[in-house]
Amino acid sequence: MTGAGAPDGGGVEADLHLHSTCSDGLETPGEVVARAVAAGLRAIALTDHDTLAGVAEARRECPDGFEVMAGVEISSVWQGREVHLLAYDVDPADPDLADALARSRADRIDRAARIVERLNRLGVAITMEEITALRPDAGDPAASVGRPHIAEVIVRRGAASSVDEAFARYLRPGRSAWVPRRSLPVDRALRLVRAAGGSLVIAHPGLNLSLDQTRSLAAEGIDGIEVWHPKHDPGTRDRLARLASATRLVATGGSDYHGEGRSRGGPGTCGVPIGTIARLRDRARAARGGAGA
Ligand code: AMP
Ligand code: FE
Ligand code: FE
Ligand code: ZN
Repeated sequence: MTGAGAPDGGGVEADLHLHSTCSDGLETPGEVVARAVAAGLRAIALTDHDTLAGVAEARRECPDGFEVMAGVEISSVWQGREVHLLAYDVDPADPDLADALARSRADRIDRAARIVERLNRLGVAITMEEITALRPDAGDPAASVGRPHIAEVIVRRGAASSVDEAFARYLRPGRSAWVPRRSLPVDRALRLVRAAGGSLVIAHPGLNLSLDQTRSLAAEGIDGIEVWHPKHDPGTRDRLARLASATRLVATGGSDYHGEGRSRGGPGTCGVPIGTIARLRDRARAARGGAGA
């Protein structure tokens, strides 16, 4: 049974998908760790959008015996569509990866400014300063600006009644203030993550890819598929779990927690047994060996 939050409907020991204030989450890395510990987890991966900035704090705040994997959710593009990739166990100091992520964050700021211009033309009078001020680390180039920050300012201005409505009205693809982003091609993300020692997983494919598309994207050299995600219904989880097993990829999962009120469930409501982490590491090691490194 794969309908529940983890393989066999139980056994959630690690949550491999969590956001903090370093991107569009509402809680600091330390607060996220505290919630994960309180939920009885043994490990997490902090996976902020396009930044590894929260990993050091999360590690400082975690108790003995609890593991924080370095993670990052990479905004990527494949066959002209936006896909999210979860990288695990990368070296946060790897200069090439750090440089690529810094470019993505700079592009996020450019894009936010262009979205603000569009909103202003539509009569929604908000400023970039209001958006960056929402982040506790406002102005820190290591933190990622995202559409949820813009949505929150739209709501405060009274131009939408909720973040969801702000997305539906202005921010989704095709809506009046939508601006596409320049994202990292998947093959480049793969090379960077490999060189930084990590593994790479397709995030929540059930939200934006068909099963066939997931299969062909996975064939590019991906290590795993995120199966247990709060927005995957039981049928999707079953199909993705079978695909992972048939293609010998690692089935991963996590809550995609963005904070109380911005998420379906807290840390640990979706996740994996602790052994999944070792399977991801085996894949990264095998890829390194295969490359002769
Ligand atoms: P961005 O990183 O700027 O592309 O914004 C994407 C983020 O917005 C996702 O990671 C989600 O956290 C959030 N998001 C996407 N769609 C919605 C929605 N309809 N309502 C609220 N948040 C959303
Ligand atoms: Fe997000
Ligand atoms: Fe995502
Ligand atoms: Zn996420």
